[in-house]
Amino acid sequence: MANLSAVFMNITKESKIVVLTGAGISAESGIKTFRDAGGLWENYNVEDVATPQAFDSNPILVWNFYKERYKQSKTVSPNPAHYALVELEDYLKDNFFLITQNVDGLHNVAGTKRIIEMHGNLTECFCINCNAKYKLEKINLAQDIPICPKCNGYLRPNVVWFGEMPYHLNKIDTLVSQCNYFIVVGTSGIVYPAAGLLQLAKYSGAKTIGINLEKPANIYSIDYFYQGKAGEILPKLVKQWII
Ligand code: NAD
Ligand code: ZN
Repeated sequence: MANLSAVFMNITKESKIVVLTGAGISAESGIKTFRDAGGLWENYNVEDVATPQAFDSNPILVWNFYKERYKQSKTVSPNPAHYALVELEDYLKDNFFLITQNVDGLHNVAGTKRIIEMHGNLTECFCINCNAKYKLEKINLAQDIPICPKCNGYLRPNVVWFGEMPYHLNKIDTLVSQCNYFIVVGTSGIVYPAAGLLQLAKYSGAKTIGINLEKPANIYSIDYFYQGKAGEILPKLVKQWII
């Protein structure tokens, strides 16, 4: 925790802070990141369950995977890192924004309000025919491939797969290019376009801060890097920032 006062003495309620989180922030809640498990996501090959091609060729397998993830999401809880970000938002109000690559919904459960889920949320699905969106709790998941109650089209998880465009990129661009501090937590810096946001923030004049278990691929764009567990480091940092 060296250099903190030097770095953060300028953080006030007026500072615009944008936080980007990845799978690492949920690791201490018991949800595995896939890169840490050798490219596998809970024993599945990512290409077999998280690409549009996979859904085209084997929708039942893809649905089985997300039904499992959904079941798991109901058994886990936010950890101190999720709650630290809620504290930071309470302090900064509209000057705070959270962008997450996670699809587990844990930031919502913790209570974050100003949030963009750029890769969607696995507690939702939508119809590939009429686009109607549903909460999974409203859908009969006993069906191998759940069907849209309105039009009988196939439903798919509301998750952005590899090779698909993340949601809300324009808004994300604006937020990141206008912030004073950009904080990245628990993300490998490999998955684009999310990984490019760090560079955008830096080029736009923000101070950049990283918290990660391992050094991320884009560490060269991070001004202040804290190596370790988000659930241990983030609560301490936030306490110091909001004094
Ligand atoms: P990643 O799996 O590629 O990388 C996770 C990073 O978190 C690693 O660099 C690792 O060192 C770090 N990490 C692990 N434990 C940590 C901890 N306790 N504290 C801090 N850092 C920790 O994840 P990614 O870069 O977010 O990309 C994976 C993509 O896959 C995401 O875009 C997401 O959509 C999806 N995914 C989501 C979840 C989820 O919703 N929880 C889980 C796995 C994958
Ligand atoms: Zn439909």
